Amino acid sequence: MDMIVLHGGASARPELKDRVKKYAEIAFEKETALEAVVEAVRLMEDDPLFNAGTGSNIRIDGSIQMDAAVMVPGDFGGVINIEKVKNPVLVARDVMLHSPHLILAGDGAVQFARKMGYEEYDPYTEMRREKREKTIRKLKNGEIPEYYHPEFFKEFLGDTVGAVAYINGEFAAAVSTGGTILTLRGRVGDSPIVGSGIYCDSHGAVVATGIGEEIIRRTASIRLYMNMLHSSVEDACDSMIEEFNDIPVGFIAINEEAACAKSNLSMPSAIIKR
Ligand code: ASP
Repeated sequence: MDMIVLHGGASARPELKDRVKKYAEIAFEKETALEAVVEAVRLMEDDPLFNAGTGSNIRIDGSIQMDAAVMVPGDFGGVINIEKVKNPVLVARDVMLHSPHLILAGDGAVQFARKMGYEEYDPYTEMRREKREKTIRKLKNGEIPEYYHPEFFKEFLGDTVGAVAYINGEFAAAVSTGGTILTLRGRVGDSPIVGSGIYCDSHGAVVATGIGEEIIRRTASIRLYMNMLHSSVEDACDSMIEEFNDIPVGFIAINEEAACAKSNLSMPSAIIKR
């Protein structure tokens, strides 16, 4: 059975579900698992309502830096803090397929993107500017709990994107994010960290969303993958989410038999099988 699972971010608006489903249907037309997850994430990067590619979060200093990664059994490609490109996930895929490295960061990632033909592009949107201003205003007025408290994220997390697929017996995973809101320039979340925000091997694929620092502390994706080896996908997701208590988190996971999308907050997602 072939399967694809997409998510639009832990704590994202439930209304995004229809879009996520539409993008899952389009991506599922691709022939390989890698092409399918890359296409799914590319489509969500191009939709300004998601916090990835166009519409990424803006950092404290006003800049936009994005992280993205792809993974297949035995190989990985990632970009960290890339700027001024339209589709970080395509650059991450090219790092895997067309460079001798696995991860490129900062200006080196940008230079590589230009060499691969990706033109300069500004992912800035008014919507994210307004969200940033609103967050600063509420923090200043003491209307929301302290910065980076789990309660803070219930309002200000969301819209990161990811996909996992199992097609023709092959697994793949992809993820892309503008990071959490109001972070320091240079901050790196879980998304491009192997085993934390993303993991894929010959028995399955996992992508995480939520507070990156907490996901990295728990190396959540590889541990969820290991749990899937001796329990159901659903139980493996549930027990990992339990470890986070009230810290916002979500996972999509897939093995040869089943697929799952779960979060302890709202998380627009889609699962398609054939
Ligand atoms: N995990 C992402 C990060 O920390 C954010 C998210 O999933 O919303 O960068």
